[in-house]
Amino acid sequence: MAPSDQPNDLEQEILNEAPRLAATSRFRFSCHPGISCFNVCCRDVNIVLSPYDVLRLRRRLGLGSQEFLAEFTILPFGEKQRLPIPLLKMGSDEQKRCPFVGEQGCTVYEDRPWPCRAYPIGEASSGSPSRPGEQFYFLVAEEHCHGHAETNEWTVGTWLENQGVAPYQAFGELLKEVTLHPRLAQGMELGPKQMEMYFMATYELDRFRRFIFESRFLECYEVAQAYADRLREDDEELLRFGLNWLRFVLFGEPTMRIKPEVLEAKRAAMASRP
Ligand code: SF4
Ligand code: SF4
Repeated sequence: MAPSDQPNDLEQEILNEAPRLAATSRFRFSCHPGISCFNVCCRDVNIVLSPYDVLRLRRRLGLGSQEFLAEFTILPFGEKQRLPIPLLKMGSDEQKRCPFVGEQGCTVYEDRPWPCRAYPIGEASSGSPSRPGEQFYFLVAEEHCHGHAETNEWTVGTWLENQGVAPYQAFGELLKEVTLHPRLAQGMELGPKQMEMYFMATYELDRFRRFIFESRFLECYEVAQAYADRLREDDEELLRFGLNWLRFVLFGEPTMRIKPEVLEAKRAAMASRP
């Protein structure tokens, strides 16, 4: 293995506990209301929320994105962290139960977050410079989870398909175009303003929508009227648009176009400066 192919700390920690799996790897598992550990896993757990998780959950609950984030998430920010990532806030009761767990199980089941869907399959991306973004799976086998003693057999691929992970993975791929961008990998640090733009265009979609329609945004960027109309209504399209916009404003990628007359006015203003 070349030095640059060595796993990073997180990969090594995962690999020490569970070997890498491919989509065709097999395992046995079942989770159902009759199992003795039912609901045990829905407490005192760190659930990282992706922008698409937040979109699905807050829409299900009929909440605005900022309202949802304030009520149901925490935003830890460690020194080594490059981007803000919200976690689902567990309850303040002794067991620290998930706010969405009920007697019959998950009350937001159809819109449960990606990690809850994929469990007991974990997914990680390589941080190695030679393999940026390379994806791998691993099996999470926790003592309290009796689902591993059941007889239903799956491959990683059939399990993820059965759990409806596909749209979460598709948005995950688009998000990686920003979060695993080569410039960030090369050490680019985002300033407070850039962090704010990132958070708005990913997690605070209501605010991003207001920014598009209530600022000079549409006077500056080329956005077809029909597409702009769609952005008013379609949260998924707004998230896709936000991720493209971030690639433009943070990294200068040609994912958006500024109107020629705006560029011309800017050039003229710069030329007239003494
Ligand atoms: S969101 Fe649902 S599945 Fe996930 S921890 Fe909460 S209750 Fe459990
Ligand atoms: S602990 Fe495992 S088997 Fe039990 S409810 Fe949670 S996921 Fe299902």
